[in-house]
Amino acid sequence: MQLTLLDKNRPLKNSLILFVFTLFFCFVGGHLRLPAELSLFWPINALLTAIFVRFSWLHRPYYYLVCYSAMVLNDTLFSGWAIPAFTLNAANLLFILVAVSMLIQRPGLLNASGRVKSALNIFPACLLASIACATWGALAQGLLISERFLPAWSDWLSEQFSTGVLLLPFLLTLPRRPSLLSTLRRWQNCLPIASLMLSLSAAVVIGGGGSLSFPVPALIWCAISYPLWLTSGLTLITGISEIVLVMHGLMNIQGDDSLLPLGHLASARLGVATVAISPLIVAVSMDAIRQLNHQLALRANHDFLTRQLSRSGLYERLHQLQKNSDLRARVAGVLLIDVDYFKSINDNYGHDAGDAVLFEVAQRMQQAVGQEGLVCRFGGEEFLVLLFGLSDEQLLEKAEAIRHSIMQEKIMLRGSGVAVTVSIGVASGDLETNNVSESFNRLVSAADKQLFISKRNGRNQTTSSLISENAVSHTPA
Ligand code: GH3
Ligand code: MG
Ligand code: MG
Repeated sequence: MQLTLLDKNRPLKNSLILFVFTLFFCFVGGHLRLPAELSLFWPINALLTAIFVRFSWLHRPYYYLVCYSAMVLNDTLFSGWAIPAFTLNAANLLFILVAVSMLIQRPGLLNASGRVKSALNIFPACLLASIACATWGALAQGLLISERFLPAWSDWLSEQFSTGVLLLPFLLTLPRRPSLLSTLRRWQNCLPIASLMLSLSAAVVIGGGGSLSFPVPALIWCAISYPLWLTSGLTLITGISEIVLVMHGLMNIQGDDSLLPLGHLASARLGVATVAISPLIVAVSMDAIRQLNHQLALRANHDFLTRQLSRSGLYERLHQLQKNSDLRARVAGVLLIDVDYFKSINDNYGHDAGDAVLFEVAQRMQQAVGQEGLVCRFGGEEFLVLLFGLSDEQLLEKAEAIRHSIMQEKIMLRGSGVAVTVSIGVASGDLETNNVSESFNRLVSAADKQLFISKRNGRNQTTSSLISENAVSHTPA
């Protein structure tokens, strides 16, 4: 069945599809029924939960009633039940209602970032839904066919919980167009699946209590290597295989009659070893991810060419300062610094020489600023220096010190010394602690206006509106 068949505006068509879908999977579930017991798998509850979560507009009493009537009809027709068809199926409905209510409240379940977090909600959702379903089901069953409550309850609970936890992650993360081929194109990418098959085979051959956990490390390897939906699918297949193999006695978890003459303890030891190695694999890969994240953050926050802060790095620092309450009562000074006629350096000496000039200018700037402030490559051949707690005069002095440090010594390009100058615009003000970025941007545009005046007045000068009413312009001595 194609889930895209469901259409918000066509309730009758939706009802028909849901009815037939429910009837079919109830029929299938009924045929997986163990003699005189509950079904081995009863997948319809998890399947309907996934559909109701993915198509949240179905979460209405009307559609629940449609599914309920299909369940009742199935039991009346194929199980020959009368009243139990109504009471027992209420337990199924309870599972779906509880699980959907818990999962549907989390919007973003289907978007990439929310998916991982939300996948973890499936566990408590299934547990609560199974408890509700098992309690009602066992009560209904116990009252009607005089079974003892606890065994009936644990049967319902274990089946519903395991089926839900196996099926739902897969169904909720399955993309509309899953591409298995692109994931498994290279033979190395198939190794985790091969190891999963191998460990499952080892579990069959060795048997014993520990054998159930043999595939766990291989599954974790899959989790590290494959997308979420594929790992969930493989976990589903592994889980169902184990249950079926155990039920048919092919996987002997009692330990006797296993294919290899290994004792209980040996199997348990191997099982414990596979469990022990699993968190280690996760921890190692998490560590690698953390390191990678750190490197990425460093790359994004630092300019590779000049080794100064990048624009994003500067904003990151500002937010850090804000978090640590370091901005309070400290006036911020912004110097916007632009290299003069830089294009002609590129044109005359080449792009590499231009890069070398940018590096050298940044070095001189950093030396002049020292530990007092932050130097940032704001873009192209434009730099920004941020200083805290300086008076207007001190700020202007600092700007002039930077300008002089750059112009006082020629930069060697292809054997000849080239005079490089910069123009500077100065602004200062308080950064609002609850709106750092915006108040900082206001300072930057104020400094930009002053920089423009420096350029217009002939370049190689500092302009500031801070000292007097009239703009002060310091031109080269
Ligand atoms: P002005 O004095 O008005 O600032 O003139 P200008 O030539 O410095 O300014 P313009 O904006 O015309 O040119 C800036 C040039 O900087 C253009 C661009 O190719 C160059 N540029 C930007 N980033 C880099 C870089 O990373 N390396 C090199 N080599 N050049 C760069
Ligand atoms: Mg320039
Ligand atoms: Mg520029």
